Amino acid sequence: MSSAPDLYETLGVDRGASSSDIKKAYRQLAKEFHPDVNQSSGAEVRFKEVSAAYEVLSDPEKRQQYDRFGHAGVGNSGAQGFDGAGFGGFGDIFDSFFRSTGARRSGPQQGADLRTVIEIDLEDVLDGVEHELKFSRVIRCQPCKGYGEADGANRPSCGDCSGTGEIRQVQRSLFGQFVNVTVCGACRGEGTRVVSPCTDCDGTGLVESDVERIVSIPAGIDTGETLRIRGEGDQGPRGAEPGNLYAEIKVREHSKFMRYGRDLVTECELNMVEASLGAKLDVITLSGESVALDLDPGVQSGARQVLKGHGVPDLRGRARGDLYLQVRVVTPTSLTARQQDLIRELGESLTDAHRPDDAGSMFDRIRSVFGS
Ligand SMILES: [Zn+2]
Ligand SMILES: [Zn+2]
Repeated sequence: MSSAPDLYETLGVDRGASSSDIKKAYRQLAKEFHPDVNQSSGAEVRFKEVSAAYEVLSDPEKRQQYDRFGHAGVGNSGAQGFDGAGFGGFGDIFDSFFRSTGARRSGPQQGADLRTVIEIDLEDVLDGVEHELKFSRVIRCQPCKGYGEADGANRPSCGDCSGTGEIRQVQRSLFGQFVNVTVCGACRGEGTRVVSPCTDCDGTGLVESDVERIVSIPAGIDTGETLRIRGEGDQGPRGAEPGNLYAEIKVREHSKFMRYGRDLVTECELNMVEASLGAKLDVITLSGESVALDLDPGVQSGARQVLKGHGVPDLRGRARGDLYLQVRVVTPTSLTARQQDLIRELGESLTDAHRPDDAGSMFDRIRSVFGS
């Protein structure tokens, strides 16, 4: 993560650049490195870097996240750039994953696709979860076995087309005789007709039914990704393929952890004494594990600590990302007179020598707060 290039450097602007400066810099670089224009090796990579940097820095919200959290704030969010390549094998019912806006197939006969949203907790992303889904789908009518004819008897042939489903008309013209074939309107091309309709389904062969399914949600999934559960959509008429069920995943927001792709960010509060003298913390990770962390004396508000491997996995099965702890130094309130005296005494003894050297400029700090 630290090896990723600084986005401001990528665009050749300074951290305080205005949005129009950023746009100007991007346009110039994009023109220079666009693969249609620049055939040299490396141009395409550079073009992608420039575009990725612009995507973050042109969006005030993303830019602010980047200023505060670095690449962890905007980096590889699992829902983005996921192309589904190189995987498979989540059991029988999952044959592929794709974006919710992805391909949709439909044929005239096939049953309708169903869509639903499954909400899971962030903890569920760690190992995946079995979700019980109750929904209503159109299934084949049992009493008539889907034929629509009472008692399940086979439907008689259509009289209009003699069971062929087609109407053939011989036409003569100046150029000779030809046969015009059209779909039989009486049986809609099926060749059979319902004579005494099944009372359960009114002759359609289909009924709506409540069903329950266990959906295995894989570890590492992110909001916006969609599972396709093949064949669990509506049944098609008379033996046609059923549609699919599409379950879009929504990961609920967590009260303590924010997720950025495989990485998590959380805040830890220190009082000014702990921040000044250093502290031993027990950090509770997303999986509930307690991890000891020693903070050096003099830690500043906004400082960041990394716990490697305590983030979340991704769908490609890569190792868990990292957990970032953002330090927040909390100023005490409601002090007693005695406490105020102690602090006053401390204050009198403090000099500029007790300030950190690397505090940066005031303007940088203000910018990182306002994100501009
Ligand atoms: Zn017919
Ligand atoms: Zn029926």
